[in-house]
Amino acid sequence: MIEILRKLFESNPEKSTIALKGKCSDCGYDVIIEITPVSSGFGLQGGVLLKCSPDGYFAKCPDCYKVHPKIDDHYKPQNINVPLLDKTGSRC
Ligand SMILES: [Zn+2]
Repeated sequence: MIEILRKLFESNPEKSTIALKGKCSDCGYDVIIEITPVSSGFGLQGGVLLKCSPDGYFAKCPDCYKVHPKIDDHYKPQNINVPLLDKTGSRC
């Protein structure tokens, strides 16, 4: 995660804050996350970014992050865009 942010700032050295736009992985609401480098790493405002693969991440709005601060198993990257229906109904 931190490496991704570091790369973002390396490719935009003139910026002190980078805003990333995304959708909350839980509720689908648009989130704009402002990232600022701080001494201990990076500070995020407006939402959170969760790492989901070596160079991928997804966003959560602060409300959903409060409810589910961790990545649930069914939100692993390969399933993000897949409806979860096939998990709930066994038709046999
Ligand atoms: Zn949300």
